[in-house]
Amino acid sequence: MQDIRCQDVACDLCRGSESKHLFTVHSFSVVKCLNCGLVYLNPMPYPEDIANVYDSREYYCKKGHREETPLGYADYAMLEGHLTFVANELLRPVRHIKTGRLLDVGCSMGIMLNHFRELGWDTYGVDISTYATEYARGQLGLKVFTGVVEKLDLPESYFDLVTMVLTIEHIPSPRDTLRALHRLMKPGAVIIVATHDIDGPWPRIVKGRWRHLNVPEHLYFFSKSTLKRMLEETGFSTFRITETATIAAATGNETLLRAPIRFLHRYRLMTRVAPVLRSLHAINRMLNLSDDVTLYSRRV
Ligand SMILES: [Zn+2]
Repeated sequence: MQDIRCQDVACDLCRGSESKHLFTVHSFSVVKCLNCGLVYLNPMPYPEDIANVYDSREYYCKKGHREETPLGYADYAMLEGHLTFVANELLRPVRHIKTGRLLDVGCSMGIMLNHFRELGWDTYGVDISTYATEYARGQLGLKVFTGVVEKLDLPESYFDLVTMVLTIEHIPSPRDTLRALHRLMKPGAVIIVATHDIDGPWPRIVKGRWRHLNVPEHLYFFSKSTLKRMLEETGFSTFRITETATIAAATGNETLLRAPIRFLHRYRLMTRVAPVLRSLHAINRMLNLSDDVTLYSRRV
């Protein structure tokens, strides 16, 4: 990993500057704002240094690369079945919304966005990674911008639906990004934000060893309440909170389930086992082991 420069920052939620140290992870300091409870990295890496992390093929596919880095994915494209499952689950609570213009923020290689397009949405994506966005445009023919939401040159009140799946925790200022999205969304349009929940029971047990404390990819560690407040303060009203996806996360590429999930993907069985996964989700919710959360909010 190249050197990452850092700077001291105020809390992005309440602008407070008093915080307490929670953990040191890979020499980065994770702190909690004493005023509002937001958990974040401080000092915070410079945005331009962070952008470099996502700009290589190695971040998305480590195949053929001898040197294992802790960052990124073993093979992002292999996750297609999983991401299709997640995309369907994500839209389930808002399936009554008539399809229109959809923006996926942090769209990566565009695999979920491609599925949204198949469902009838007029899809747009934005991602910081040159490598991933070139793939989305070149291989999948998607309308995808390289860069940040704040720089998008699009009309006001343009989008009917915005999705941010495991993206907000990577963004240097979630407040600035959400304000920019507010401008781009139609009044009443829905934003779906999925992130990891540091107040979930599992991270409370494992504390500093929680797997989502993977810094410096993750800069923020929201809870349901800090994320809800961040959305409120940037002009959104939350109407649904879903604890999700310990199972969905487990169907990623980082766990013991890797081999069986790869089998399901290879033989295109992922959609067939979706009802089973949904039951596991239900059990998971009952046991309340979730460490991911999804907020559904309306642009006020
Ligand atoms: Zn704060």
